[in-house]
Amino acid sequence: MDCVFCKIVAKEIPANIIYQDNNVIAFPDINPLAPTHLLIIPRKHIPSLPHLAEADSSLIRDMVHIANQLAKRQGISASGYRLVINSGKQGGQGVSHLHMHLLGGRQLSSALG
Ligand code: AMP
Ligand code: ZN
Repeated sequence: MDCVFCKIVAKEIPANIIYQDNNVIAFPDINPLAPTHLLIIPRKHIPSLPHLAEADSSLIRDMVHIANQLAKRQGISASGYRLVINSGKQGGQGVSHLHMHLLGGRQLSSALG
């Protein structure tokens, strides 16, 4: 499958994988928008939020928990951070493999749109 994140999961494309378990991996965004900018992704190819089955709800829960742990590890837990999931064209999703951005380490804009 021609999916850049599946290729990172399969180790066909290099990434500095800073967290991994049976279901999830995390690595730095190649184009960081903040001092901390990590991507937390499922190993399984789920294209976007509407493709999440009810059985996947534990996956999102785990991704949030992992993001919180990574924020703590990066020292931004107290200063604050943002978790973002873009979904679909108008949601600004560029890579069609579900992923959560963890952004922090600077004052983020309050604008969401
Ligand atoms: P989104 O716009 O929410 O789909 O975010 C996709 C993100 O993936 C962007 O912030 C890209 O910079 C990032 N990205 C694309 N290719 C790679 C890669 N090979 N390694 C790390 N991050 C990547
Ligand atoms: Zn994929």
